Amino acid sequence: MPELTLHRLRPIASPPMVCMYCGRPAAHADERWVPNPRDPKGKDTGGGADVPAVSGDDPVSAAVGLVLLPFVVWEAVAAVARYARTPKANPEVATKPPPPLDPPHTKVVITACDRHRHFSRRFVWAGLGGLVLVGLLWAVALRVGVDSPAFGPLLGLALVASIAGPIVLSLWYCLAGPVIVDRVTQDTAVLDRVRLPYFDATGIPVP
Ligand SMILES: [Zn+2]
Repeated sequence: MPELTLHRLRPIASPPMVCMYCGRPAAHADERWVPNPRDPKGKDTGGGADVPAVSGDDPVSAAVGLVLLPFVVWEAVAAVARYARTPKANPEVATKPPPPLDPPHTKVVITACDRHRHFSRRFVWAGLGGLVLVGLLWAVALRVGVDSPAFGPLLGLALVASIAGPIVLSLWYCLAGPVIVDRVTQDTAVLDRVRLPYFDATGIPVP
């Protein structure tokens, strides 16, 4: 099923009010923010030393560390000097983390018409219905008893329904389930199971 990629740094101000299931005009927009994973390089943490940190126990690292040692010492001395010079700041302000450079979340909007607003509910009802059906089959099989000739087929039917029911429901959900946020990367959130009529109606190219 086609995917719709939303970009963190290029959020759509007013997403097209088109149902993501049938492509008809949408009446509801489920808007939320999806947290993106942080930069593994620690870009968001701010600050950082000017001298690159050297780690490792090989000779090259040791040599580089030795070369950089005066810089490290100089940095430490300069930091102490800076600290001594700066007036004592309000501790509340001092402990406040620096604000991120850009929003760390991606805006996600799932649009739906009246008919498809609660699309995922049909799977809940189907699951509950299946559960009741399987329960009834077992109840009937146990009620007729082992002596009845109908016991064998009923037991078989109950067993098959117990095993196949959840598999069929899972497959149906995977292939034709509701629109979900499938993946979140550093800069994008990818919606899965957006139906083709949405792309036709909005003119967004199908990926
Ligand atoms: Zn719809």
